[in-house]
Amino acid sequence: MQKPPPALTSFLATPFPALPVLAIIALVLIAPPGATAQNLTVRAGHLVDVEGGSVLRDQEIVVRDGVIERIGPWRGGVGHAPEDSVLDLSDRYVMPGLFDTHTHMSLVVDRKKDGGNFFVTSLLDNTPYRAIQGVANARDMLAAGFTTIRDVGNSGNYGDTALKTAIAEGLVPGPTMHTAGRIIAPFGGQFFLQPEKKSLGEPEYFYADTPGEIVKAVRENLHFGADFIKIVVDDQRYIYSVDEIRLFVEEARRAGTYVSAHCWTEEGARNAIAAGVHTIEHGPYMSNEVLEAAKAAGVWIVGTEFTVEGLSQSFTGDDLSAIEAEHEAFVDRLRRSHALGVRYVFGSDIVYTKEGETRSSLTFTILENFRKAGISPADQLRAMTLNASLMMGLEGERGLIKKGWAADIVAMPSNPLVDTHALEAIDVVLKNGRLFRTAGGI
Ligand SMILES: [Zn+2]
Repeated sequence: MQKPPPALTSFLATPFPALPVLAIIALVLIAPPGATAQNLTVRAGHLVDVEGGSVLRDQEIVVRDGVIERIGPWRGGVGHAPEDSVLDLSDRYVMPGLFDTHTHMSLVVDRKKDGGNFFVTSLLDNTPYRAIQGVANARDMLAAGFTTIRDVGNSGNYGDTALKTAIAEGLVPGPTMHTAGRIIAPFGGQFFLQPEKKSLGEPEYFYADTPGEIVKAVRENLHFGADFIKIVVDDQRYIYSVDEIRLFVEEARRAGTYVSAHCWTEEGARNAIAAGVHTIEHGPYMSNEVLEAAKAAGVWIVGTEFTVEGLSQSFTGDDLSAIEAEHEAFVDRLRRSHALGVRYVFGSDIVYTKEGETRSSLTFTILENFRKAGISPADQLRAMTLNASLMMGLEGERGLIKKGWAADIVAMPSNPLVDTHALEAIDVVLKNGRLFRTAGGI
């Protein structure tokens, strides 16, 4: 794990005189998108400024080696390097690539197979198969315009970090990823075991119940490629205390990273905020008092505002009135977070499947709840770009169309500042300046 095998891209970059010419051509032809940087000028008929919530007409974005070099009024094709290709998006709305900050690329809950129980899924599906599911989901997400994602665990034995590595090496297409590795939790994780099968929750969850186990779990995750630490605070009767969570936070901080805390209860969120976590995942039952505490501590809310369908398809239980009440709690918490000025980002937590839909098309359904909570299109776009970038520590790198930032750019036929349904029709996607999808095809 410490030293991954050389990537196809680095192999291609290395002169290899013994290889016959035909073989070299074949390798170049199968080189995946993202293998090398590209210089091009994007002509943007309508450039969406997500920071200011406005649209600039007829602009150009000059991309060099995957990075944005210049933004300004379209110069009519003059002033560019002669070798530059021009991507004409004069009839499109152009904006930064989208972020989904709570994904599980390698978890696919299928009611027909597992009755909607993700514990059953993790038992049926081994890590190699789940890595392949992750490849398919990552490709689908990138094609839909999600150029950066955070994967928060549930991928067997580090399937998420393997996927991240393969994407970064250019072996398969997908968004830029930050990964959590194995989710750390008190004994049992998010499941309910029986005494003769105590290990069934592993490797899906990494149990840590003592200070020593907490430190070891953090270090092992970081060693195997986690970018941040994900913990489950409160899915059992015994929940992590402030002191226990603080131990996670300190150990993560010493390694230069942060803790994301799954919290479902008020008490869990209160403990996590007091201990200094970076994000609260879910948090449907946070009172205004706890939201104010999050605001004061600079904690981000990764809302995962579930639809009624999402709740009923992702978890066991068929009590529709209870599901509807939980859905309303999520929408209400988002509405209150916005009103109180708490920092929040877009995170979908989509894991379920539906006939005729894909991972990405279901991801956009979360925006229904943003609309229901009265969040404006401009604020929705910020939650999916700039704010997500700030939360992930990617300011200056990804999340805006700005000089010096990576050329992660998407385009669509209509204006997302009027209605974010426009995002569902994204048909042009660049990641690191490489054209992954053009209008009319992938
Ligand atoms: Zn989740």
